[in-house]
Amino acid sequence: MITTLHELIRERIDYRLARPTRIHKLPTEPNGGLWIKREDELSSGISGSKLRKYASLLPFLKKSGTEVVGMIGGPNSNNLVGLAQILREHSIHPLAFIREAADPKRRGNALLLDMLLTQSEVRFVPRDQWSSVLALAHSETARTSTQYHILPEGAWGLESLFGAMSLAEDLLRNEKEEGTTFQRLYHDSGTGLGAIGLILGLEAILGPEAIKREIVVTLIAGKEAEFKTGLETMRANLREELAIESPDRVALRFLKPPVCPKFGSVNKSLIDETRNIARSEGLLMDPTYSSKHYLAAKADFAANSEQPKSLFILNGSALGLCGFQDALSS
Ligand SMILES: *Cc1c(COP(=O)(O)O)cnc(C)c1O
Repeated sequence: MITTLHELIRERIDYRLARPTRIHKLPTEPNGGLWIKREDELSSGISGSKLRKYASLLPFLKKSGTEVVGMIGGPNSNNLVGLAQILREHSIHPLAFIREAADPKRRGNALLLDMLLTQSEVRFVPRDQWSSVLALAHSETARTSTQYHILPEGAWGLESLFGAMSLAEDLLRNEKEEGTTFQRLYHDSGTGLGAIGLILGLEAILGPEAIKREIVVTLIAGKEAEFKTGLETMRANLREELAIESPDRVALRFLKPPVCPKFGSVNKSLIDETRNIARSEGLLMDPTYSSKHYLAAKADFAANSEQPKSLFILNGSALGLCGFQDALSS
């Protein structure tokens, strides 16, 4: 059975960035019904799903001779922190358009961004102007170079999707190595591109076999309808760009976080749960995405009595904890 992506996709991915990651049983599920994929181990400073996106985005930027990247995001964006690192490494100039923060304190990702970017590389955009940030980014970035590229929030776009699809490939490698199959996969979602990469990757590789898989998406940000629109947009883009069809569909289901469902919101219970997860699983999870995703997936797994063999995908990075030190220690 073929377990790799189409050559047209593989040649767009730098596999030194989209490296293999391991899977193991969750210690709280000794029967082995729920495993975890350690995408957090892809990088010490860039969250896992982001690095997979950059694995195809970066080759595209270099090939097209991009000199400046206008990048867009909130003050606590993992994507901006990741892009700032990888663009710097490759001597591509970043210009960040950051939504003005409600919290003026420099902590967490806002602090890391401040470390990575000089003042001239940052534009703070007032909240009431945020709806026109894309146009602003285009006009401002174009002034710095004719060779520029604009990245929307989450590095959304087909150039990032190819790399995101490598998760499907690596997961099938894990299965082969362990001699097992995961019928249910838990993935978190912000803009949705990471989960969409997994879905389209599995469909592209598995063909008719894809219908046996269920992808359960935890909506950390965004709505189910938006996710589905994004999925169909990317499906159509793949077809137009590479003539790659994916007629066979995985089953899809959506979860909301059981605590602090509003994106970016945190309360004591979430902080307490984050500590519980560390003590029970030995995992340092970022509260913004991973703890919420974990709580949603664990509850779902417990509630589904038939419990097919399931895999929890951990995209977060422990760096995401650094904005929460005060909350964790009080
Ligand atoms: C950015 C991020 C996401 C969201 O990824 P999308 O591709 O925008 O859905 C999910 N989890 C973690 C840990 C992230 O850093």
